[in-house]
Amino acid sequence: MRQITPNSTVGVFGSGQLGRMFAIEARRMGYRIHTFSPESGTPTGQIADAEICAAYEDLDQVKKFARAVDVVTFEFENVPSICAETAAQFAPVHPRGEVLHVAQNRLREKTFLSKNGFPVAEFRHIKTLEDLRNAVREIGIPAVLKTAGFGYDGKGQAKINSAADCREAFRQIKNQEAVLEAFVDYERELSVVAARDAAGNFAHFGVIENAHANHILDVSFAPASVSGQTQKEAVEITRGILETLDVVGVTTVEFFLTKGGKLVVNELAPRPHNSGHLTIDACVSNQFEQQLRAVCGLSLGSSEFFRPAAMANLFGDLWENGNLNFAEALRNPNVKLHLYGKQEARCGRKMGHLTALADTAREAVEIVTKARKNLTAK
Ligand code: AMP
Repeated sequence: MRQITPNSTVGVFGSGQLGRMFAIEARRMGYRIHTFSPESGTPTGQIADAEICAAYEDLDQVKKFARAVDVVTFEFENVPSICAETAAQFAPVHPRGEVLHVAQNRLREKTFLSKNGFPVAEFRHIKTLEDLRNAVREIGIPAVLKTAGFGYDGKGQAKINSAADCREAFRQIKNQEAVLEAFVDYERELSVVAARDAAGNFAHFGVIENAHANHILDVSFAPASVSGQTQKEAVEITRGILETLDVVGVTTVEFFLTKGGKLVVNELAPRPHNSGHLTIDACVSNQFEQQLRAVCGLSLGSSEFFRPAAMANLFGDLWENGNLNFAEALRNPNVKLHLYGKQEARCGRKMGHLTALADTAREAVEIVTKARKNLTAK
């Protein structure tokens, strides 16, 4: 693979906070950034050298965008695959379109995982209400119905607690093609953020533990409080997935750890991940630098942690009663603030995050959640 060195231009499909943090790393290392999305004035656009505002389906604009850059990546996996395929005619695209294709559809993703021997919850393909009723009979209850495409942060999901819930659950997901999966009675949610370069080298940030609120990631910390054996297994499963998919770039594997100590893959994100934001302040080469190095054909950096760390998301809800008390939140010198440049603070919208480093992950969680609370102190 050709090495794309500083001063070259990296194109990013998508323009949210992930693209923004990627662009900050790329600029630090002397690269130029072009971003492509249907919006303007975006979190990524504010940092990029050029912000192209067009529909992903506008293939003439996609071609123009790809011609003007040295390599293309994406920060958002729901970019239509035709968009990645078209760009690939003019510039290298990493991770390749096939990775995107698998990860943007739950049915394809789960089929890929189970076919290749990776642990997933039992699942069935659902096209009709009758399929759903049969699947509930086979898998049992509780179960979770999820749309096959375009789902994230618990959107497009309905829990089924009894056979009588089928009709309402199917209606809730608007009768779309779906996957029914067994409910996992998990003890913890974990993720492994990992990178793979073009030569097949692999780097990872160990196991990160995640706590959700309303199905959206709320707090992450590392290292996770799990056994050494579980850490090893999670990393090996992740390595296997990246190798099988031949990923060049960063991919995140989200896991459930069952009460019996078994790891189950929940989903894949073929990109840096919210749970990996703590690597910006806590690691030698953070997840965005690893992404940049991999897609540019450079070798990976060290993903070593300086200290245990925790991250708390800042949702739009925090702004409900006006401006925030940033001075109070930053009183602790170990707290770092990241804001994504979003103008409108809507409920549930990810506006930024706080990170803290400490001697233990538990202490880092305490510091970061206290700092978040202090944001609304009078
Ligand atoms: P997802 O959008 O698939 O990441 O799901 C969002 C959240 O819903 C997860 O973080 C879990 O808290 C919950 N969830 C999803 N699938 C399952 C499952 N099969 N069993 C139990 N909880 C689930």
